[in-house]
Amino acid sequence: MKKLVLDFDETLVYSSTQVMGVNSVPFTVNDTTFYTMLRPRAKEFLKFVRQKFEVCVWSTGKQAYLDAVWDYIALDGFTLWGREQCRQADPPPANGGEPYEKPLRQLTDDLSQIVLVDNSPSMFAKCPLNGILCRTWRGDPHDTELEHLSYYLEWLERQPSMQRDHHAWRLETLCLRSR
Ligand SMILES: [Mg+2]
Repeated sequence: MKKLVLDFDETLVYSSTQVMGVNSVPFTVNDTTFYTMLRPRAKEFLKFVRQKFEVCVWSTGKQAYLDAVWDYIALDGFTLWGREQCRQADPPPANGGEPYEKPLRQLTDDLSQIVLVDNSPSMFAKCPLNGILCRTWRGDPHDTELEHLSYYLEWLERQPSMQRDHHAWRLETLCLRSR
């Protein structure tokens, strides 16, 4: 089975220490309270991709935070990795980006069979053919990114190698869906 790595914050969920309206759910982890919202269609998307891929949800947040939110999402069949599995970015980002990397080789030696979906392009700077950049999500209730992405992933999973230039994935998916 091919492998899919999914970023967590601003890809599947949005968390803030501020209350964000009726759809945000509070979690208290190590004395800090977060309010978290799920991106539209996140659960449907997760149920879809776990049929097609071995899925690792990989957050740069701490494992305790990821585990707490995942208890609420309540879907099994996913590997959950937090900051503890990340590596310090080398070189560190100059523009205030996240100081972590997600080395895909920790999951496989065969980079043709793994792909990472992330809203931070720095996460796949060292393996650009393995990264699908998704739009950053911070609560827009009309967002359709995950639904659109599921069509692309369904197509991509059928390709012998998933390493390719993914820059135009959104436009390519429009073409796929209009066939
Ligand atoms: Mg993110």
